[in-house]
Order: sequence, then structure tokens, then C-alpha cells
Amino acid sequence: MTFEEEFEKARENEYFRAKFIRMVDIKPYSKYVKSVKYNPVQFYDSYGSREKFPSGITTMPPWRLNFLMSGGKSKIEVYPQAFFFKNVDDFLSTLIDHEILGHAKRYFEGNSLRGKEELFVTTQHLALLERRNCSEEYVNAVRENLKILQNRFG
Ligand SMILES: [Zn+2]
Repeated sequence: MTFEEEFEKARENEYFRAKFIRMVDIKPYSKYVKSVKYNPVQFYDSYGSREKFPSGITTMPPWRLNFLMSGGKSKIEVYPQAFFFKNVDDFLSTLIDHEILGHAKRYFEGNSLRGKEELFVTTQHLALLERRNCSEEYVNAVRENLKILQNRFG
């Protein structure tokens, strides 16, 4: 099975999702990430995130960040909503380009950037997704979200 097919299977069968997530190679990012786990019971919206872009994935900052200390690893939770993406690259870009190389890396560096964090992370996200085969719908959603953030924080 190709990775795309595995993703398709995870989209259709929620019992396969935890296994699919373990198939994503996060070793290159283990410096920033403690774990990536599927959370089938919590819906992203209920978590209290106010992100305009519905990613379906949340990065929990390491406790050290409360003391502005660097070097902490984040725990990442993937919610059912993340499997609403139709394209595997949309999923990977959200997990890796946005959550890991964006939020988790920021948290590791001990710099949460406070209010401007989302603007920074999304600007970088848009640049990083160029390497992937994301859907046009996805690229437009990231672009739209960036515009909203620029108006608010830029
Ligand atoms: Zn974000």
C-alpha cells in the first residue's frame, strides 16, 4: 500500500488512524516532539483553540515554556477533524509544516512569540508547503488565514 492509500484507509476507518499516525516519520523532528497521538474523543473546536484555520491538530506547549525556558518537547494531538483533509499532503503539511516546524520548534526554542506566533508560523507554513503536493483548496485556505492574521497583527 502506498502512503496515500494508507491515509485513505485512515480517513475511512477511524480505528486505523492511531496506526496511521505512527507510520508518519517524525524522527527528523524528535528534537522538538515528544509524541504524536490520535485523540478520537475530543473535537478540535472543543479544545478552545481560536485558530481560524481548522487544522484538527494541536501542539501542547512543554511546561518549561511557562518559565520561558528552551529545550522542551511538545506533545501533539491529532483529532478526527484532521482526517477531513482529502489529500495526504494537506495532512502532512498541517502536522509537519505548521505544528512541528512551526509551533513545536518555536516552543523548543523557548520563544512563544505571544500574539504574533500564529502569524509567524503561518507565514512559514505557506513557504514550506511549496515542497508538497497540497490541494489548491488547502493552499487557498492557508493563504486566506494568513491574510486574516496579517490584518490583525501585521
Ligand atoms: Zn497554528
